[in-house]
This record gives sequence, C-alpha cells and structure tokens, in this order.
Amino acid sequence: MSAIPVSASSLASALMRKEVLDLHAYHVPDSRGLIKLDAMENPYALPLPLRKEIATIVGNAAINRYPDPNPAALKEEICNTLGLPPDMEVLLGNGSDELIQLLALAMNKPGAAMMSLEPSFVMYRMIANYTGMRYVGVPLKINSGADDFSLDMTETLKAIKREQPSLVFLAYPNNPTGNLYPSLDVKRIIEAAPGLVVVDEAYYAFASDSFIPHLASYPNLLVMRTFSKLGMAGLRLGFLAGNKAWLGQLEKLRLPYNVGVLTQLVAGKLLAHHGVLLQQAEQIKMDRARLYQQLGEISAVQVYPSEANFLLFRVSDANEVFGGLRQRGVLIKNLNGGHPMLKNCLRVTVGTRAENDTFIAALRETIIQSA
Ligand SMILES: *Cc1c(COP(=O)(O)O)cnc(C)c1O
Repeated sequence: MSAIPVSASSLASALMRKEVLDLHAYHVPDSRGLIKLDAMENPYALPLPLRKEIATIVGNAAINRYPDPNPAALKEEICNTLGLPPDMEVLLGNGSDELIQLLALAMNKPGAAMMSLEPSFVMYRMIANYTGMRYVGVPLKINSGADDFSLDMTETLKAIKREQPSLVFLAYPNNPTGNLYPSLDVKRIIEAAPGLVVVDEAYYAFASDSFIPHLASYPNLLVMRTFSKLGMAGLRLGFLAGNKAWLGQLEKLRLPYNVGVLTQLVAGKLLAHHGVLLQQAEQIKMDRARLYQQLGEISAVQVYPSEANFLLFRVSDANEVFGGLRQRGVLIKNLNGGHPMLKNCLRVTVGTRAENDTFIAALRETIIQSA
C-alpha cells in the first residue's frame, strides 16, 4: 500500500494535451469599484417597465426543465428582427465564442488551416491552438499613417493561395482596431477563398455595413453575430446565419442545451424591443464621435477611426497611461504586449457621457503628469 505521492499539478501536466498546457487563459481583470470601459459592454440599463416585464418572465420560467433544444420561435424572431434573407437560417451559440469553437471542431481536418488577419480578435488564434488547428495570421498594414490596420490585399490573397485555408475569420468591423474593411476587398477575399469565410459582425449595431444581404450570393459565406455588444453580454447569445447546408452539419456538433432557459426567454423579450437597444447603440455612436474628437485633441494621443463601440489609440507609454487611469478609477484595455503592431496601444469602450468625460479628464491628468 505504498502509493507514490504525486501532486495534482504533475499529474495534470503529464496527462493533458500540450496545446492546453501551453495556453495562457483569457485574462479578465478585477473591475470592482472601477468605471468599466474595457470589454465593449453597453453601459445603459433597460427602461424600468421592460425590466419589470423581464422580472415576471424570469419569475415564471420553468428552470426545473431543460431548455428547448431547438428554440424555433427565438430563431424566427432573430431572422425577422434582423431582416435575414429568405432561405437563410440561424444556429444559436452560447455567445459567438462558442460558435468559433464549433466551426474549428467541424473544419479541422488533418492539415486544414484557419486564417485570420493580425491583429484581430484573439479567440480565433486561441481556439485554433487548443483545437489543434493550424493557424495562419496575415498581418494588416502598419506604419502607413492613417492607413494603419487596413487590409493588405496583396499579402492576403497570396496567403490564401499558398495556405488554402478551409476556414477564414474576418471581424467586420475589426476588434481591437475598430476599422471596417472596404466591402469590395472582403468580397474579393470570399471569392478567392477555397473554404468557408465567416464574417464576424459582433459590432453590427455600430457599423455602417453588413454582409447579411450577400449571404445568398456566396456559397462559402456565413455571417456570425452576437448580442453581447448590443446590451446582452450577460445572457450569452450569438448566432451564425447562412445556408442550411452548412448550419445543418454544424447543428450536429452543437451541445443540445447550449442556450439556457433564461437566455432564451429574456433574449426573446429583448428582441421584441430591439428598437430600444438600437437607440442606445445610436447614442453610443454619437458619443463615439465625440470621444474620437476629444482624443484627437490630445497631442500625445494617436486615435484610430472606429465603426465599433470602442476606440483604439496609441500613446508613448501605454503601461504608464493604463496604470494612471486605473489609479483614477477607470479601467480600459491595455493591448501593449499583446501583438507587436499594438505596441503602446490602448482600447477604450464608449461608455455613458459621464463615464467618457471622467475617462478623458483622467487621461489628460495622467498624460500631463507623466510628461
Ligand atoms: C466580443 C467579440 C466576440 C464574442 O462575443 P460573445 O460575447 O462570445 O458573443 C466575437 N467576435 C468579436 C470580433 C468580438 O469582438
């Protein structure tokens, strides 16, 4: 009975896949007591009458039962509210992060590659890594002044030809840079790609263009959206829209109860009041313009144009500015160190007027103090 003493950590590292052991977990900083402008959340509460209706719905929810595994009414509500072309369907995910994972699982044949642009949403690369899918990141343009983070079409088309990716993710607008690529370029990518192209429209409510109207034109196109940035981040609901031929196959991989009872009920209710959320998005777009202008007036700041609910900006010492803001009670996202092109870059989510003003005042103070 002499069991060899082993630690849980040596067991875990001996037994788990290398891809998992090599990962750095997605870090979510503690935001208690801070003005939270780090995660692209909608800062507004819902109108009180709507909250009361939601309270009743939640109070009456049958949480002792499994959720509807195929909430047809909710899916129809999504198709109608967002004006999906006829013949197109949706597949629901527990946030769109889950859908990225599902796509990687489905498309990861031996040797298959996932392609995206760099810098972009970190979950594409992270999910490729842990599902063991080959990842190809094509750099966006850099050191081109106002053209920073624009598509490098020559390199992108070359990489598509060379790598033959079976799955391409294009964030439209891009995160964390905020820009919307020219739609003609995105079309050229879809036409050149031998595989599936997923246009990720997480920020659709703040952007001036969408690929949903083009779904019927391209057999290799899916559009992915989430309700997180629109004001439902806590509910976790995203969807893929497109042809049934794709979605029917992907359905087989979806875990049957991935969207919970409360999410189904509350999202259904909120979609019936989509106008309220879109109005909040309009306010955020106006405040984004104001914040862009204010940032542009600070000479030590280089701010980039955005069609999302955040702004990317560069300073001379991002770590110091990030720390200074935090000391003054404002939490934004420090992108320094995340990607070489994002050296000294910070990303601020557009908050309420008052939050934005506090942020700008804190930023001015921080920069003056460090100058
Ligand atoms: C936030 C974000 C997502 C993920 O959203 P979920 O909350 O998982 O639905 C996906 N893509 C991009 C580009 C994002 O910025």
